[in-house]
Amino acid sequence: MAGSRLVLVLNSGSSSLKFQLIDPVSGISRAAGNIERIGEASSSVPDHDTALRRAFDMLSEDGIDVRTCGLVAVGHRVVHGGKDFHRPTLLDDAVVARLEELSVLAPLHNPPAVLCIKVARTMLADVPHVAVFDTAFFHDLPAAAATYAIDRDLAETWQIRRYGFHGTSHRYVSERAAAVLGRPLETLNQIVLHLGNGASASAIAAGRPVDTSMGLTPLEGLVMGTRSGDVDPSIMWYLWRTANMGVDEIESMLNHRSGMLGLAGERDFRRLRQMIEQGDPAARLAYDVFVHRLRKYIGAYLAVLGHTDVLTFTAGIGEHDSAVRRDALAGMAELGIELDAGRNAAPAGGARQISSDNSPIAVLVIPTNEELAIARDCLQETEARPAGSD
Ligand code: ADP
Repeated sequence: MAGSRLVLVLNSGSSSLKFQLIDPVSGISRAAGNIERIGEASSSVPDHDTALRRAFDMLSEDGIDVRTCGLVAVGHRVVHGGKDFHRPTLLDDAVVARLEELSVLAPLHNPPAVLCIKVARTMLADVPHVAVFDTAFFHDLPAAAATYAIDRDLAETWQIRRYGFHGTSHRYVSERAAAVLGRPLETLNQIVLHLGNGASASAIAAGRPVDTSMGLTPLEGLVMGTRSGDVDPSIMWYLWRTANMGVDEIESMLNHRSGMLGLAGERDFRRLRQMIEQGDPAARLAYDVFVHRLRKYIGAYLAVLGHTDVLTFTAGIGEHDSAVRRDALAGMAELGIELDAGRNAAPAGGARQISSDNSPIAVLVIPTNEELAIARDCLQETEARPAGSD
């Protein structure tokens, strides 16, 4: 493809590597893949080094040579940017070292990304590598929303604040919502509900976030696939004292064995739906807890915003599970939200309105595309800095 400029977007989790080769201008994805179970005993992919080589092999099976395909940048999704990183950042050794230090704040999330960055920089040494942070969009959250009511010296010393995550998705979806409505972003008050394995809500006024449900880490807020979301922190020292559980064990329980998995033994909403239909009481309760928490956040953000123009569902559950959307918004006509049952249930893809035409608050479904947003950020960042400028 003569003249095409492509960005390779890498999204590395502790045991997975998602990759996508994407044209940031047209938005066309040239190739994508997901390598899972990295490092697991039964897996043929022992580490991220092998995973990245496997990704290149998969691309070459598609007839794409990453070294000659017109690659202009590699974009790395990094979950936690701490207090300093809030722009797409060109990676050099010094930045990578600072990212390693940040792993203290995000021990479950940042280390795999740092590992992947190191391997990718060696394997693709001739192109710029850019880190795009999940926290970036929420960097300027108003102090009242970002601040925990704890000892302020401690918070300052240890950089404890509400950082917010899924920022790339919340920003992308809120911009798309404005485009779908044909109204300037600056005129809209929005609620965005990103409901995937990880789930978060945000309130956005004139394109700027005013609150979001995730905090110091992506554990706070909504009930998720395997994460508890909000809990009374006393649960932790209660378990520590009385159940003899260690800190790591409690952290792992709240992050990996809670949420829908902890309550119902299943985190996939398609499977959960079947279990509910078969009369499984644990699946029913898990679903009810999930929906109740979601409704609380919607109510909270309607109040935070005062006036809301549009509410948008996105990510796996938000885009595909019409029952979640129906139950999350049921009985909210007096709050200005009226779904159109037919539109909501219609098996459609793509961006669409699911509220009735006279609903004061428009309700939309918009597929998120974090990879495209990352690719665009990368292109902007690399074009802003001519080669050799640093
Ligand atoms: P991730 O956070 O891993 O990117 P996704 O955004 O892909 O997650 O969302 C995964 C969730 O979406 C899973 O719970 C899955 O069951 C749910 N999901 C995906 N497709 C559907 C569907 N057709 N109906 C209901 N739920 C779905």
